[in-house]
Amino acid sequence: MKIMSINCGSSSLKFKLFEMPQEEVITEGQFERIGFKEMGIYKIKFNGTKDEMSLELPDHSVAAKHLLKDLIDRKIIGSLDEIKGVGHRIVQGGKYFSGSCLVNEWVKERITELIDLAPLHNGPHIIGIKAFEEALPNVKQTVVFDTAFHQSMDPESFMYAVPYEWYEKYGIRKYGAHGTSHQYVSQEYARLTNKDIKNLKIVTCHIGNGASLCAIEGGKCKDTSMGLTPLEGIPMGTRSGNIDPTVVSYICQKENKDAWTVVQELNKKSGYLGVSGVSNDARDLEAAYNNGNERAKLALHMQEKRIADYIGSYYVLMKGIDAIVFTAGIGENSASMRRRVLERLDILGVKLDEAKNKERGDSRRISTSDSKVDVWVIPTNEELVIARDTMKLITE
Ligand code: ADP
Repeated sequence: MKIMSINCGSSSLKFKLFEMPQEEVITEGQFERIGFKEMGIYKIKFNGTKDEMSLELPDHSVAAKHLLKDLIDRKIIGSLDEIKGVGHRIVQGGKYFSGSCLVNEWVKERITELIDLAPLHNGPHIIGIKAFEEALPNVKQTVVFDTAFHQSMDPESFMYAVPYEWYEKYGIRKYGAHGTSHQYVSQEYARLTNKDIKNLKIVTCHIGNGASLCAIEGGKCKDTSMGLTPLEGIPMGTRSGNIDPTVVSYICQKENKDAWTVVQELNKKSGYLGVSGVSNDARDLEAAYNNGNERAKLALHMQEKRIADYIGSYYVLMKGIDAIVFTAGIGENSASMRRRVLERLDILGVKLDEAKNKERGDSRRISTSDSKVDVWVIPTNEELVIARDTMKLITE
């Protein structure tokens, strides 16, 4: 059965079509610059070939219809009836969703209600769901939430020590993000090492342009570094991570800006980019670092310190750590970042196998056999989780 996994951003639509249950990727690609005055871009990979073209993309609905027509034109599918389910990635599920579910009116209302908490994401997600409802009216759709995995946190982890009414009236608390990825790589770790996840204490480090850590005990999230929004936690490509909130009112006053503008700068002009002044891309920073750029070095070291800080606090929280798993763009690819983080964890008995750390490729152990903590690199695969959950939900 064919299942489509969809990730809609404000101006993009990414897709992956799976043959399930074989978990085989039939085709994948994306639409970019949706809603721009200029032409949009459509990229598709199929049968070992890549194709790219520009076309008018006034909205997500046009992109969805173009995609379905193109799948037939390219004979990737014989008819639309072959697609049995469409699963959507949703960033913010608030307190309502602790797992994936089929789309209905109530579900769409809740995702819409949560737009305030994730304005750049939940709005486009709803547009994406509606685009596919229109294009494939007889096909079941599902939603898979980035926040769902984190719903198992205890109140002492998810609450902020702020006036309680803020929580009661506005739902102000930690929700976390990247939950699908943290869940997937922790389960993969257990599968690859033939261990029962119920007995494991794992810290997963999803380090991409956005970055978060998660403490996972017995397969359940105990704590995570992102908060009400993805701004909390460690410094990222363009996000500051934790700061004293007084910085916001101080900069508002000094630069005559409003709070929203300053928070946007914390989201888009901070982190690697803000500190280094070089780039938000880890590869550029690494190159600048190697050329002696002190601010690039500082930006990288600030992030590494904060990753180690979180791992240390999760060690205390879970009373030990069996495994650390690195994933996402930087976690999977940057051997130097992993080495510098792990050097800071010497005290926990973490020992890196330098040669294995430098190898490239698939899931692998990068710690030595006498390391007290097992350290792995495991590529994340959020789209596959969406396809699996969708298949399960539509056949139940
Ligand atoms: P997101 O999904 O949050 O946009 P990704 O998980 O795709 O981000 O990660 C993007 C980051 O991964 C970028 O900073 C990029 O520089 C980094 N990255 C990708 N490949 C490499 C590599 N070979 N070495 C170091 N960093 C890399």
